[in-house]
Amino acid sequence: MRETKIVAGVAAGNGLIVRAEAEPESRTVGHLKNGEAVTVLDEQDNRALVSTGVCGWVSAAYLKDPAPGEPDDPEDPADPSDPAEPGDPIQPDLPEKPWPETIEGLQMYLFEWGFGPIVGEIDGKNGPKTKEATKQFQAAMGLSADGIAGPKTFAALKGEVILPRLTETDMACQCEKYCDGYPNPSTAGVRLLIERIWREAEKKYPGLQVYVSSRAHPTPNGAIAGGQRCEQWNKERGGAAKSQHLYGKAADIFGRCEGVKDAEIRDHLEEIALKLNLSGGVGYGARYIVHVDVRGSRARWEY
Ligand SMILES: [Zn+2]
Repeated sequence: MRETKIVAGVAAGNGLIVRAEAEPESRTVGHLKNGEAVTVLDEQDNRALVSTGVCGWVSAAYLKDPAPGEPDDPEDPADPSDPAEPGDPIQPDLPEKPWPETIEGLQMYLFEWGFGPIVGEIDGKNGPKTKEATKQFQAAMGLSADGIAGPKTFAALKGEVILPRLTETDMACQCEKYCDGYPNPSTAGVRLLIERIWREAEKKYPGLQVYVSSRAHPTPNGAIAGGQRCEQWNKERGGAAKSQHLYGKAADIFGRCEGVKDAEIRDHLEEIALKLNLSGGVGYGARYIVHVDVRGSRARWEY
């Protein structure tokens, strides 16, 4: 029997994603639940296997099966079991719009745009955290980043400003057969997230281009990237029943930079996404793609 050892804690940093390493290849065997310190021994006990504490192929095969209550689609967990990390703010229930142009309103918009983990809480106080989140939002929007929310910033918060680089066209459904390309009303939230990731990544790779549409910019290995998906295309692509792509909240992105390997770019994009997208999903894709989404809760996986 080939020896398989568990190397825990890749992307999420707390052991949510477990990788079984076996020569010559390394692959993911399962997703343990809830960030608990689940040991191989625990899993073997839970699953009535012989308790050796060593993850051989038998245990690995069991770990591949989702634990009860876990999503069965590795690409887009519809109801991810990954909880927010301790200390991560949970997305509050926001009141119905319109929100006022006050500090409280500003904080609500910042939560909606995915900056909640920076803001911390909606308390109506213009503290350093709220100012920092405002600055980051302004920078991503191409506004002057002074941390003060004036009329231009509020217009952007309300979605009345066009993002500098990624447009709705980049996010079109890639099916070319079932729909007109725009089954969802807006993809602004995920576009802003990609812009933030892009801005951070190009510090290391000047001239980096980040793409969503593999129709306009084919990936080197024929993988299909994309933003929103219509129902039929999502089904055909094997997406989860409640995939965030269906709601215009997700994108599969890839980056290109002259002289740099695609895999290296992908790894860097993922690394940044994990840091920035604390209240959304990040999926590390084979074939040079990273899935990002703004679902409002934290989710991490490989596909
Ligand atoms: Zn479509």
